[in-house]
Amino acid sequence: MSDSGCSQRLSTRKGNMKRKDDTTTVDQLRKEVSQFIRERDWEKFHNGKNLSMSIAIEAAELMEHFQWSDPQTPCDAAALQEIRHELADVVIYALDFCNLMDIDLASAIKDKMKQNRAKYPAKKVRGKSHKYTYYQNAPVPAKRGRVKAVRQKIQIRPA
Ligand SMILES: [Mg+2]
Repeated sequence: MSDSGCSQRLSTRKGNMKRKDDTTTVDQLRKEVSQFIRERDWEKFHNGKNLSMSIAIEAAELMEHFQWSDPQTPCDAAALQEIRHELADVVIYALDFCNLMDIDLASAIKDKMKQNRAKYPAKKVRGKSHKYTYYQNAPVPAKRGRVKAVRQKIQIRPA
């Protein structure tokens, strides 16, 4: 782990530099992970328990880079490289988990995003960070113009 804790992204991208994400499919990544494991005869170790634990362990390694860091400190290039690798470890294990459990990741994400949109309606949660349960009985906030109009109507002085 780097001892140069950081919490902000230091951009290394230049202009319209292409990302591999633009041209690589999830299926290609799944196959690459699968091939890596098969070539080493590691399938026998890759079960749900070990993979779910490995995802959590790699996520903790990612978090170590931010533990006790100053949120205003930008990441330097060395720290960012280590962070990239830890995130890759998390995703590699997640893809391996998808292969093992035959989970269609794209449809799982689409399903989950649909649920998230229902739990966190943009009109209710915009700019707030509470858990969805907080909003379950909360009214939809009025628009500013509407509040002003109501204030004028009932003759309340502006705050
Ligand atoms: Mg790691």
